[in-house]
Amino acid sequence: MNKTIFQQIIDKEIPATILYEDESLIAIEDINPVAPVHALIIPKKCIETLNDLNPADTDIVGKMILVARNLAKELKIDQSGYRTVFNCNSDGGQTVSHIHLHLVGGRKMNWPPG
Ligand code: AMP
Repeated sequence: MNKTIFQQIIDKEIPATILYEDESLIAIEDINPVAPVHALIIPKKCIETLNDLNPADTDIVGKMILVARNLAKELKIDQSGYRTVFNCNSDGGQTVSHIHLHLVGGRKMNWPPG
């Protein structure tokens, strides 16, 4: 199977603006931001969609949310507010088959989402 764009970023084969990295995940700036702050928190383990999660992934998913929380504070959107989103498959708008958590903020979000 071909590597996803995120696997290539994790493997440092293509560049990205890295906001945070440790042994199990990486956080980068989205290349096509939909808000003044738009980060992606990506586990280094390739899990294609949320449907493919198993109980052993509980820790990494929890950590992704904590990293999003920490980045929101660092990027100074924690008080104004932000949104975190996992898209899943076609109707969910997922375009990269490697789970990732979007962190978006810096403007007022609409609800319901488009
Ligand atoms: P999704 O549609 O939920 O799968 O989100 C994929 C996201 O990855 C989109 O917001 C894209 O803008 C973003 N993206 C695609 N390629 C890159 C890249 N090379 N660097 C950073 N973000 C990217």
